[in-house]
Amino acid sequence: MLMPENLQPNLIDRYGRTIDYMRIAITAACNLRCTYCLREDDAGVARKQEQMDAAQIGSIIGVLGRMGIRKIRFTGGEPLLRKDLPELVAIARATPGIESVKLTTNGVLLEKRLPELLEAGIDGINLSLDTLDQARFRSITRRDEYPQVRKALEILKEMPSLRIKINVLLLRGVNDDEIPAFAELTRNSEITVRFMELQPFDDRQIWRTGRFMGAEMIRERLHSAFPDIDPITGRDTEHYSFRIPGCKGSIAIIPAYSRNFCSRCSRLRITAAGNLVSCLYRRESIDLMPILKGDSPEETLILTIEDAVRRKPQDGLKSGDDNAVTSMSQIGG
Ligand code: SAM
Repeated sequence: MLMPENLQPNLIDRYGRTIDYMRIAITAACNLRCTYCLREDDAGVARKQEQMDAAQIGSIIGVLGRMGIRKIRFTGGEPLLRKDLPELVAIARATPGIESVKLTTNGVLLEKRLPELLEAGIDGINLSLDTLDQARFRSITRRDEYPQVRKALEILKEMPSLRIKINVLLLRGVNDDEIPAFAELTRNSEITVRFMELQPFDDRQIWRTGRFMGAEMIRERLHSAFPDIDPITGRDTEHYSFRIPGCKGSIAIIPAYSRNFCSRCSRLRITAAGNLVSCLYRRESIDLMPILKGDSPEETLILTIEDAVRRKPQDGLKSGDDNAVTSMSQIGG
């Protein structure tokens, strides 16, 4: 691909990793209350928090595109709660240097909002869905939105033009009996079903209650349900990838906690409150709001992003802070 003159080809950190991926949490608010992520009364905190507006997010993305970031993912909280999400997608899509713009969502509002997202140019959607059972959905999320999310899943399954992944957080004794049913979703659709390990971030520390299910155990369970499963090469963090013979889609396991992917990390993150985070496992972050609000020259934003890249630790899991993140809803996963 020809690079426009003002684009740098790469943003490389001290350990030789190319940083080309930014995850932006555009709100801390969420319309579900997944027990491993949020408390019932977390809404107040999210409501009080200041968040970046579309112009501020747009100016960050403009700078990122010139610095070497190629992939943007909007997340949250629940990103579909923001009315201006299509505008954000369109801005990112039109930004020189940005090659893909994707979304991670719980899908509650997706059916209604998908047309405007498609029009804005969204490239892919990760749908978070931990169960295919309505009563269980209610007990995991504390909300009765299963029919809406299921409808969103059915619509996405029929959208070959979009890259679709289903994120299933597996909890022992909660939804681990649904591994085969989720794997079956790949039979007729080109989607990827990703089984994920719980990260030790929720401030209720549910992972200490014996619910944690490691990647190895997930792999064994998949193999016993589908003994002739074919290993395939997965992407980035997808440590194990498989295809069931004859199925159109694929299955991956994301061992977020039991395996370390720091050597392959290509990410920066921005929280809903506008804090730039260089490592998921570090408490340290850089507040971008003063830069975004003031009339600082663009150079200040560039230097700040370069500083965050410089601060990326070699191995966040080994050198990270305890309880660096209290809930994924702040940082978007
Ligand atoms: N609301 C959107 C959604 O549900 O996809 C985006 C934000 S949500 C925090 C992003 C992802 O983080 C979801 O797939 C959710 O399951 C996951 N998540 C939340 N807490 C987690 C934890 N402690 N460990 C692993 N994944 C977690």
